[in-house]
Amino acid sequence: MTSGSASTSRSGTLVLVLGDHLCHDSAAFAGFDPARDRVLMIEAPGEATHVWSAKPRIVVFLSAMRHFRDELAARGVNVHYVALDDADAGGDGFELRLAHALAALAPGTLRLLEPGEWRLARIIEAAAAHVGCALQVVDDTHVLCSRADFARFAGKKPRLLMESFYREMRRRNRILLAEDGEPEGGRWNYDADNRGAWPKRPASRAGPGLIAEPERFAPDATTREVIALVERRFADHPGTLADFAWPVTREEALRALAVFVESRLASFGDFQDAMWTATPFGWHALLSSSLNLHLLDPREVVMAAELAYRSGAIPLASAEGFLRQVVGWREFIRGVYWRDMPAMREANHLRATRPLPGWYWTGDTRMVCAREAVAQTLRHGYAHHIQRLMVTGLFAMLAEVEPKRVADWYLAVYVDAVEWAELPNVAGMALYADGGRFTTKPYAASGAYIDRMSNYCGGCAYAPTEAAAASRGKPICPFTALYWNFLDRHEAMLAANPRTMMMAKSIAAKPAAERDAIRAVAADLLERVDAL
Ligand code: FAD
Ligand code: SF4
Repeated sequence: MTSGSASTSRSGTLVLVLGDHLCHDSAAFAGFDPARDRVLMIEAPGEATHVWSAKPRIVVFLSAMRHFRDELAARGVNVHYVALDDADAGGDGFELRLAHALAALAPGTLRLLEPGEWRLARIIEAAAAHVGCALQVVDDTHVLCSRADFARFAGKKPRLLMESFYREMRRRNRILLAEDGEPEGGRWNYDADNRGAWPKRPASRAGPGLIAEPERFAPDATTREVIALVERRFADHPGTLADFAWPVTREEALRALAVFVESRLASFGDFQDAMWTATPFGWHALLSSSLNLHLLDPREVVMAAELAYRSGAIPLASAEGFLRQVVGWREFIRGVYWRDMPAMREANHLRATRPLPGWYWTGDTRMVCAREAVAQTLRHGYAHHIQRLMVTGLFAMLAEVEPKRVADWYLAVYVDAVEWAELPNVAGMALYADGGRFTTKPYAASGAYIDRMSNYCGGCAYAPTEAAAASRGKPICPFTALYWNFLDRHEAMLAANPRTMMMAKSIAAKPAAERDAIRAVAADLLERVDAL
């Protein structure tokens, strides 16, 4: 995609490298002439405050940007770098800093990869138009499926399904295919072999056992400098930095990938959805921030996983389960974002209007599942997919929290948070705020699901089911109480969808007095949601 008019008397091309475009092979560098062209990189305090960004997320972005700046400079590239604390940068907002830099540098053309956020794309268009320089927005070839390709796939379909997209991506990119072009092993999907929970009994064999350690990276001098800066400048922001160990260079990201494939991928599939206390990472890849920052190319991730399978090092179910995430979900989510923005940001199908409970920012709750998910999020900037979807996401939907407030939280707290990846997962997957544009039903569940997939409930102040509440003498779990309230409130919607018809029937079967009690319990819980 290229847009813009011919350049004026201004000269040279200025390549704007955004914080999540840190790749030397970026299409934005095509034809770059170091003798004539320059690079612009901007650190803007406003990007850390427009949502109340957590410290680990800010450090990942700033440190990776500074490392990339130094690599460019070592290659002889002229980089105009606007640092966070620059006093004469034109203001704190990205838009102010960009306008200031464009006025000072007076490029003929401003060129960049298509931004990963709708808001930033508009800001950059406006800034270029304001100073009167030509703007070239280049297709992001880092992804496997361009926006145009996705638009062709989506066509006029009212509802998209990830599974058909994923199969098309596998065929088109020849990923895990047998020689006849059919899926390796004869099946597209090994989900049934994946997604187990860790055993709870017998006690001697309970839990995840020994999980191979993910590769973690001790902060170097640049990262330590950024940590000090963030501690000073964003002292009141959530999160802690004592355990910061994320990859911030391509070299580190490649090592993280190699270690994951060698020692963790084989068990990834089996336990993708499992949760356990004090087990923040499970067998997960921890590669999302490196992928989203463009330190890693999805093609090399795909190749490494497929090679490991072809060499016999990992089972097919694990390779398929992992590649489904990278080639399927990740690319699909990006396509959906660009198809549905800006409406996706406003979507509120369930008409949820409540505030986000305060404990999302502190982890101070008696609900063990939520406490674990939030505490590790604040400590590491990380929670795995099921924690995000079926703990913090599920609670937000059941507690009727306004989607925008939920989205702002997710965008603030994770080291991999970029809006194209975050918002569809929040609005579409977790909250059903889009009314099912790419999911077939709301992911509504009670505490019984969390009990099945984790050991959280055993040590909780609440009990996940009515039977457990009666036998343990504990109050009923807020997830379960609010789940019934959700069914009560949305019965008509659930009855109209074949995939949720059973849920509607289960609430319809309850006598009126019981339904009154469900509403009363839920009203009480929602009233004191900050203290649960
Ligand atoms: P693994 O579980 O090991 O998966 C491997 C890779 O697959 C990930 O690195 C990621 O790149 C990709 N992937 C898997 N599922 C998804 C998905 N649903 N969407 C996009 N990519 C996926 N992911 C982000 O990258 N940024 C976000 O801001 C983000 N916000 C989320 C918010 C919610 C409410 C939910 C439910 C999910 C969100 N995800 C997000 C998707 C997913 O949870 C993370 O990509 C994953 O947990 C990252 O950890 P990992 O690298 O260990 O992934
Ligand atoms: Fe979470 Fe409910 Fe289980 Fe407690 S009982 S850990 S609140 S699901």
